[in-house]
Amino acid sequence: MIQITMPLNFLGTVYREIRQSLVDMGEMFDLLEQPAEVSDKPNAPALNVSGGVVELGNVVFGYEAERPILKGVSVTVNAGETVALVGPSGSGKSTIGRLLFRFYDVKGGAIKIDGQDIRDVTQESLHKSIGVVPQDTVLFNDTIRYNIAYGRADATEADIVEAAQAAQIHDFIVSLPDGYDTTVGERGLKLSGGEKQRVGIARTLLKNPPILLLDEATSALDTETEQGIQSALARAGEGRTVLTIAHRLSTVADADKIIVLEAGEIVESGTHDNLLAKGGRYASLWARQAADRNAA
Ligand code: ADP
Ligand code: MG
Repeated sequence: MIQITMPLNFLGTVYREIRQSLVDMGEMFDLLEQPAEVSDKPNAPALNVSGGVVELGNVVFGYEAERPILKGVSVTVNAGETVALVGPSGSGKSTIGRLLFRFYDVKGGAIKIDGQDIRDVTQESLHKSIGVVPQDTVLFNDTIRYNIAYGRADATEADIVEAAQAAQIHDFIVSLPDGYDTTVGERGLKLSGGEKQRVGIARTLLKNPPILLLDEATSALDTETEQGIQSALARAGEGRTVLTIAHRLSTVADADKIIVLEAGEIVESGTHDNLLAKGGRYASLWARQAADRNAA
């Protein structure tokens, strides 16, 4: 018995780790997308995050040599700031997220975190420092507790509850007959899109990353749910550096800075009020979405 159980347990652990990394990546980026291989430099040190300043300096990138996607993009997100990337579909917003996560290396320029080029540090330390709130959180057929603590085996009950409170899902959980022991997922309680997303936020918060990357985190939700999630995300972003990518401008109006990207170039940047007053691209995007909101 023992001889059989031991290797199976070991395989279970390895399997979980592999599944974990696939889930982390899959949640953020299309699962079918095949990231190019990047590798650590020999003896690369771990990323050392002090404040969490994220700096894209003149970043040039294309998936294929003949087709440039980012044509010299410079963005600085200061420690603790929230910067929003907006712009039409295909303008390169998610690509910036993939580059920050170092799924690909830049073709020109550099991405630095607290002054360290992300190509010079280990990918493991980079990935630990960046929390991703996915559009669609994958739930396992297991308890809510397990689903929140997933990826943080050492989390205490107090840690889990704190994360759930910050994600504004705790009250919902304790209202269930089995509370944190409620089984969710395909074979358990089906959670709504908004509830799943809160579980995803709690899961990310439990990892306590200094940098948050949100890619259209609220795109699949109705307006009311979205507002709830926005306030959970705003709380999640407190004390962290946040880069948020959004289609809906209503979700980013409070950002410290909004960057408007078009065809891989920054065409405008400023606060919501600055950009509205300017009467340019952002202002017309805003007017169009406001008309859509009223029509809806
Ligand atoms: P956005 O998030 O602003 O909608 P993306 O960054 O996802 O835009 O995509 C920018 C451009 O890059 C698009 O034209 C898209 O088709 C292209 N693109 C995205 N991923 C890949 C890929 N893996 N291979 C080739 N082209 C890609
Ligand atoms: Mg995108």
